[in-house]
Amino acid sequence: MKIRSLKLKNYRNYDLLKLDFDGAANIFYGDNAQGKTNILEAVYISGTTKSHRGAKDRELIRFGQDESHIEAIVEKNGIDYQLDMHLKKNSPKGIAINKMPIRKASELFGIVNFVFFSPEDLNIIKNGPSERRRFIDMELSQLDRVYLSNLTNYNRIVNQRNHLLKSMGIGGELKDTLEVWDMQLIQYGDKIIERRKEFLDRVNEIISSIHKKLTGNREEIQVIYEPSNGNLTLEQALQKNRERDIRIKSTSAGPHRDDICFMVGGLDIRRYGSQGQQRTAALSLKLSEIELVKQAAKDTPVLLLDDVLSELDKHRQNYLLDSINDIQTLITCTGVEDFVNHRFYINKVFHVHGGQVTDEN
Ligand code: ATP
Ligand code: MG
Repeated sequence: MKIRSLKLKNYRNYDLLKLDFDGAANIFYGDNAQGKTNILEAVYISGTTKSHRGAKDRELIRFGQDESHIEAIVEKNGIDYQLDMHLKKNSPKGIAINKMPIRKASELFGIVNFVFFSPEDLNIIKNGPSERRRFIDMELSQLDRVYLSNLTNYNRIVNQRNHLLKSMGIGGELKDTLEVWDMQLIQYGDKIIERRKEFLDRVNEIISSIHKKLTGNREEIQVIYEPSNGNLTLEQALQKNRERDIRIKSTSAGPHRDDICFMVGGLDIRRYGSQGQQRTAALSLKLSEIELVKQAAKDTPVLLLDDVLSELDKHRQNYLLDSINDIQTLITCTGVEDFVNHRFYINKVFHVHGGQVTDEN
């Protein structure tokens, strides 16, 4: 797929903006705080309805305004689609495909695939488990609408279960209600765990050769799903933790507490890896993601690369730029020198300054 154009109205620091993209490499350069990331964020929202940084709709609306509008024209298999997001301060956003309102974000599935790559992604292995869960959930939610629906249901049930735990007295009345929630928790939770494991199997098929190339054959990597219930089934874990959950008033086992373990040379690099090792593994993971989306969607995603190059050394920059030359990319950076030095061909250059973008072609 490709994104052809983007229109913004009252979005973050943009009053009005209209951009036409090239089908290959597009670069947005400018000083800090000028609005580069905001553009990539808007593009990502146009296809996923969500901000990559988890921002709320009201934060996206330009200060002093009540509404904001994002319009993107994307092309998939030779057909153009107009995607509209209408953000409002106090009510849910309106979404439309070709001017027809849709009710569920999942209707965008099959049209758009964006991979967002930001400097924070390079910390995914160093950071806590919630970041790794967020990664896997964002990915699977874009690729698999059944997963998205199971996840939404699961999260709702965990919330309701926790709510019940908070209102339960020491005597443990309401235990019957708890059992009802547990049954549903197991039903959705098992499906989520199974799908995440399958996803990581696919990642393992792809990541190992990427990681070998990135480390000059020095490292072997393996990605392992780490359930919070250890060797127990989710049902057994809920049983076992029941008294404890009542005491601490929170659900202690389940996919909302699971993690992904990264092993390199027999060591868990979340704990024992050097910073460089952790960042290289994160880069391998991100590059695998692009490959996985290609395979799963049978189409090339659009890559949104936010200020990542400056975070990498020459070897890794080269590898990254080499591996993305066949997909449409929107790249932000503070200076264009890195690309020139790498003889990376840029098709369109935009300069971003104080919420204004100039097309320098
Ligand atoms: P950096 O190089 O530091 O990453 P950037 O060019 O990517 O900078 P952005 O993150 O795109 O910068 O944001 C730039 C500006 O957008 C910030 O200075 C911020 O004040 C402004 N901004 C954020 N949200 C809003 C909003 N809702 N309304 C108006 N301005 C906003
Ligand atoms: Mg930025």
